[in-house]
Amino acid sequence: MKNNLALYLVLSFVVISLTSFQTVPTEKAKKFKVVIDPGHGGKDPGTRGSYTLEKDVVLKVALKVGKYLEDLLDDVEVIYTRKTDSYSHPKIDAEIANNAEADLFVSIHANAMPPGNAHVRGTETFVMGTKNEGRNFEVAKRENSVILLEEDYKEAYQDFDPTSPEVNIMFSIMQEAYQENSIILANNIQTQFEKRAGRKNLGVKQSSLWVLWNTAMPSVLVELGYLTNPKEEKELNSDEVQDYLASAIFRGIRDYKKYLESTK
Ligand SMILES: [Zn+2]
Repeated sequence: MKNNLALYLVLSFVVISLTSFQTVPTEKAKKFKVVIDPGHGGKDPGTRGSYTLEKDVVLKVALKVGKYLEDLLDDVEVIYTRKTDSYSHPKIDAEIANNAEADLFVSIHANAMPPGNAHVRGTETFVMGTKNEGRNFEVAKRENSVILLEEDYKEAYQDFDPTSPEVNIMFSIMQEAYQENSIILANNIQTQFEKRAGRKNLGVKQSSLWVLWNTAMPSVLVELGYLTNPKEEKELNSDEVQDYLASAIFRGIRDYKKYLESTK
């Protein structure tokens, strides 16, 4: 009887130890956090086509990207900066990503050209950069312009002047660590846009985009297509094309994650 009691105690101890050991969080259990940022929202419509607002079409695609990630990868946590037509403040968006200590930040937008350029179409993915040449500067101006909607923007954004030498130096120190991975992800997404979604690939570009500048992790800003191109505007409103675009972004993220795991 004594022996049985001793055995019982030993076994209980072993079981309790094993159970508690299993509940200790391991490195493997850590979720890969992806912040999905549908551009604009609420009072900020973004750019527009003849009948489409950027904020609406990017929200639809963003929700689909999140759903693909949640349904098809079990160790990923999706964090949205907005899930409805609410105002999405770039400063808050960056803070959401930083506070969550996210592994990736993916901002989703749609593009536009000035009148007379309706033929321009295709997808682009931006990473943070300080060289703003030609069209990239136009995109930076437009995507950053939401900042001007803020009453206190001068105070809130006073540090952001990508043309200043100090910012260039700070950028090279702070962002260098993320830049290489941001470019890998951006290339993955552009490849998938072309192969998976059959979209025109305008390539990976660099631009001084406020939201990318303020996120402390690999970050990209995706332009799904041009709302000023009538054919592309129609396509961007199609549920099927939205699915393909979302699937392409999902695959780009999935391949990036695989790449990270292969280099561990
Ligand atoms: Zn935008």
